[in-house]
Amino acid sequence: MTKMVDLTGRKYGRWTVKEFDIERSKKSPDNPRKVLYWICECECGTIRSVAGNSLKYGESRSCGCKDIEYRKKLHKIIEPYMYDGTNIIYIRNKKTRSDNTSGVCGVCFNKITKKWIATITLRGKTYYKEHKLFNDAVKCRQEMEELLFEPVIAKFNESRMMKR
Ligand SMILES: [Zn+2]
Repeated sequence: MTKMVDLTGRKYGRWTVKEFDIERSKKSPDNPRKVLYWICECECGTIRSVAGNSLKYGESRSCGCKDIEYRKKLHKIIEPYMYDGTNIIYIRNKKTRSDNTSGVCGVCFNKITKKWIATITLRGKTYYKEHKLFNDAVKCRQEMEELLFEPVIAKFNESRMMKR
């Protein structure tokens, strides 16, 4: 048997080793290889029994709160661009794409009715209107953008100004 190194008081990531977990480290059906466990306290206050090797080899660095914090941070980065459930960058991009002459975003041809359809999707809802002429459909799509996207963008800009 290898000599047990006392890990008490050591820090591994966010864990601080409190004491040796005598009960869990005993040979049992759950622990046939007699893995040594240590009672650890995470910086966030969570107390858990962690295998000594997981601590030593850096497999366990926290109770998992680090991951949650990362997700929160990520959300904070995205959040300023979300407004009213709409991703502002996304609809802004859509707007510029519609200015492309190579193909108009949100305008397609209905082979059955032989008409041009102007469509727009906002918050999972798709609006559409049929037109005989392609140019009318393009114009319609622009109007739809103004009608649906502009208020959202305007409200978003307003809310940003107010935050300042
Ligand atoms: Zn934690």
